[in-house]
Amino acid sequence: MEKKIKTGVLGATGMVGQKYLTLLANHPWFDVVYLAASPNSAGKTYAEAVAGRWHMKENLPEKYKNIVVEDAANIGKASGKCSLIFSAVEMEKQQIQATELEYAKQGFAVVSNNSAHRSTDDVPVMIPEINPDHLNIIADQRKHYGWGKGLLVVKPNCSIQSYMIPLYALMKAGYKIDRMIVTTLQALSGAGYPGPAAIDLVDNTIPYIGGEEEKSEVEPRKVFGAIKNGKIVSDESMKISAHCNRVPVTDGHSACCSIGFTGKKPEIPEIIDIWRSFKALPQELKLPSAPDPVLVYRDEVNRPQAQKDRDAGNAMAVTVGRLRKCNVFDYRFVGLHHNTVRGAAGGAILTAELLRAKGYIS
Ligand code: NAP
Repeated sequence: MEKKIKTGVLGATGMVGQKYLTLLANHPWFDVVYLAASPNSAGKTYAEAVAGRWHMKENLPEKYKNIVVEDAANIGKASGKCSLIFSAVEMEKQQIQATELEYAKQGFAVVSNNSAHRSTDDVPVMIPEINPDHLNIIADQRKHYGWGKGLLVVKPNCSIQSYMIPLYALMKAGYKIDRMIVTTLQALSGAGYPGPAAIDLVDNTIPYIGGEEEKSEVEPRKVFGAIKNGKIVSDESMKISAHCNRVPVTDGHSACCSIGFTGKKPEIPEIIDIWRSFKALPQELKLPSAPDPVLVYRDEVNRPQAQKDRDAGNAMAVTVGRLRKCNVFDYRFVGLHHNTVRGAAGGAILTAELLRAKGYIS
């Protein structure tokens, strides 16, 4: 049997960190041996550090209980222990940027959940089904920063996955989308623990999530962009207007989208057929976390629903429904995905699997 890649998780005690540990407990390629968090958790065993704040449905896996949590800033502690790092820390932007760059400089392959580096020119924002070719920028990163084996890739904001793959499938089939209005209904777990105050969440929706609309309008363009002269240049051809709302759902972000095409326009049966038959590199490579099908189209008029559809494809698939004509643009539909799996830890793990399949980590 091939040796597993030794792996570390920064922010291991948080919501996303716990999700990483749950998803990686029996992973065929990655073995988590290094856990880091804030100085408050450093020096404690993992079981002590998360006592009273383990938020997963699954029990805390035995294998992590006695690992001593390190201070994420103490990078030397990771040296020699692992080569792959998943980053899910919550700190000041500059502190995150510096920490992730330092890990990459020290030779680690860093896959990050944070937004800190999403606008860095030579850091790819990865949705493995859409832009696997953006990994080619790693050669430029290594040249630019003088890194040896190190690299840094990030995953996008947790809300955009509900519509990015459906949009891309249509673009790949030859249709050009030039405008979209999207309204998201975002789950509480997307805000980390404990999230918004309970009194704001009962009998309520909150029509504001700081920074989210800006990210939803900018990040898709980078994901759809191309590498030019050692930088990822965003595709500015699509106009996006986003409304982001926090709703009292535990897990599962929904997005109601209206889209407009320029040039030729597919008919509804063709769109559904394109979505249902869509496959990309992760499916072709049969990466361990790649869902197949990646897009699940539901005919029922009242789907997708967070409760019923968030776990499709081991919570890695995107469920789409309610495709119909739009009176303002061309079509409208609803997309849904699991925000802490596909939208966070699971999406990052799929990216790391792609990195391994492409030979960037060993
Ligand atoms: P969280 O539950 O608040 O966890 C934050 C983690 O960061 C904890 O492990 C915490 O350690 C650690 N931390 C805090 N201050 C630190 C410091 N000074 N040095 C080192 N570690 C420190 O947050 P989360 O929801 O897991 O989110 C983590 C990151 O992922 C955030 O950047 C968030 O924006 C991003 N993200 C979240 C989601 C989601 O669905 N929740 C989705 C996509 C991206 P202690 O326990 O020791 O304090």
